[in-house]
Amino acid sequence: MRGAVLYAPGDVRVEERPDPVIVEPTDAIIRLSATCVCGSDLWPYRGVEKLDGAAPMGHEYVGVVEEVGGQVTTIRPGQFVVGSFWASDNTCEICRAGYQSGCVHRVLMGSIGTQSELARIPLADGTLVATPGMPDADLVPSLLAASDVLGTGWFGAVAAAAGPGKTVVVVGDGAVGLCGILAAGQLGAERVIAMSRHAPRQELARRFGATDIVTERGDEGVARIKELTGGLGAHSVIEAVGTQESMTQAIRSTRPGGHVGFVGVSHDVALQGDELFFSLVHLHGGPAPVRQYLPELIGLICDRKIDPGQVFDLTLPLDQAAEGYRAMDERRAIKALLLP
Ligand SMILES: [Zn+2]
Repeated sequence: MRGAVLYAPGDVRVEERPDPVIVEPTDAIIRLSATCVCGSDLWPYRGVEKLDGAAPMGHEYVGVVEEVGGQVTTIRPGQFVVGSFWASDNTCEICRAGYQSGCVHRVLMGSIGTQSELARIPLADGTLVATPGMPDADLVPSLLAASDVLGTGWFGAVAAAAGPGKTVVVVGDGAVGLCGILAAGQLGAERVIAMSRHAPRQELARRFGATDIVTERGDEGVARIKELTGGLGAHSVIEAVGTQESMTQAIRSTRPGGHVGFVGVSHDVALQGDELFFSLVHLHGGPAPVRQYLPELIGLICDRKIDPGQVFDLTLPLDQAAEGYRAMDERRAIKALLLP
């Protein structure tokens, strides 16, 4: 099969890789209908995250089940399925509490690599959710978004306690931040303030339900949020970048008693204990338990209530994955969809 492999920073190649086979009786093999490049793939692509030899890439996926192992009972060949970037059993105590990304048996899909024609999905019964029948082709990008960016933005909004009567600030205008805006609206937020200085992303933010746009950053950005919230700060802030600047901005934009949902993959972020102490904010975040939200998100997508697939503003054949990485790295594209 064809699959993307990162050899060195800036060097992604699509090449022949061995076809996946059933390894554990709980595995499934899927044929991907679509896959994509994640903002988090840019960390190793930019050399910020160290590479330990050539690495298969990709952790977002939707597709049709080809084969299942002998112990798989609910997932069947021929089903169209969506799964998260963590494979999880969905039965352990952590999963049952809704934290499948912390499953005691979890497997990181990025270690398998789903920017490919086929992929092995561990713990298929727990990991995969089948759609009701074969989805219309125009729904596939939105279902793919559910696999990571929508589920992650959703968790960010839930962790930030977005809801009726709340003012929600979203720090970060990448695909996750944009999906966080959409989620905040769906959860009933009264006002959603997007922090973005990029015109096409501001426009998508508005389409996803942002009521205000703030272009300032850092201390000026915080001051602007205070100005818009009667000097108090927001009730809920979604942090969707993962840098020191964005995390600081998120905490300082939150009112005492408010919630920060941090879902940007954290890189070299250090929090000042005394500032945290006196901020009186709730902090919750981490790798999103996307699996928890998949049934609900698939329902909203299949009923055409939400259209998160709009985050894909570039579609390429899988063989041109390298251009997808370049376009996202240079911020020419929000998110690149790859067709195997
Ligand atoms: Zn589990």
